Amino acid sequence: MSDSSVAIALLYPELLGTYGDNGNATVLAQRLRWRGIAAEVVTVAPRAPLPTGEIYLLGGGEDDPQRHVARDLAEGGRLTAAVEGGAVVLAVCAGLQVLGRSFATGEGRYAEGVGLLDIETGRPPRDQQHKRAVGEAVVEPRRSLNLPMLVGFENHGGLTTLRGHALPLGTVRVGIGNGTADRAEGVISGHVVGTYLHGPVLALNPALADMLLGWVVGELPPLPDDTVDAAAERVKAIRLEAAGLTTLGM
Ligand code: GLN
Repeated sequence: MSDSSVAIALLYPELLGTYGDNGNATVLAQRLRWRGIAAEVVTVAPRAPLPTGEIYLLGGGEDDPQRHVARDLAEGGRLTAAVEGGAVVLAVCAGLQVLGRSFATGEGRYAEGVGLLDIETGRPPRDQQHKRAVGEAVVEPRRSLNLPMLVGFENHGGLTTLRGHALPLGTVRVGIGNGTADRAEGVISGHVVGTYLHGPVLALNPALADMLLGWVVGELPPLPDDTVDAAAERVKAIRLEAAGLTTLGM
């Protein structure tokens, strides 16, 4: 990997790659290249040493692969050391859960997480465990981030509680998000961001992609295509759908 290039490490895509989340790596790399900044995507396999990266990405996945990922990443505090060294992390759904203290793997069983985030993921009460959070979501980002509305879709059984310094990424306007009474969605702690939004989320929300990139390379000028506010159009469509006024079959 050349020194001048931004290294984007895509962690365990064969275990955590549901719903197109691997595309987040492509989006980040391409948005850098469009600005004339070199970028390389490095795919990391389980058990392989963690490469030095400026950005680490984790996607969604099923409960079982999640347990393997958590064990692998916790070993020797590998990811924690990278974050302490200044790395940026985006973790989606199962990825978000894995970074916490513990997460449910169904039927009252729990697995230990990496412990990078002060969050815990449980399951709904026993009589409601058949219910998953599935569908389109609209999230109002926390004001300090100065981001437009975020969109994506969610599909998860786990519900996540934030503690300590972990703040919600935003507030759910449509959808379930973390599943807590305060309608929190996702988590942000320093330069570690977690969300339940798939899509891939960075293709649907370029401003979020640029926020992560900005932490690495400094503030970036907008791209010409960003004037087409696809996310705003989608928000409108999702809201109409939620109100039962139309369908998303656009
Ligand atoms: N297995 C986790 C859950 O159901 C995460 C699912 C996902 O990543 N889509 O909560």
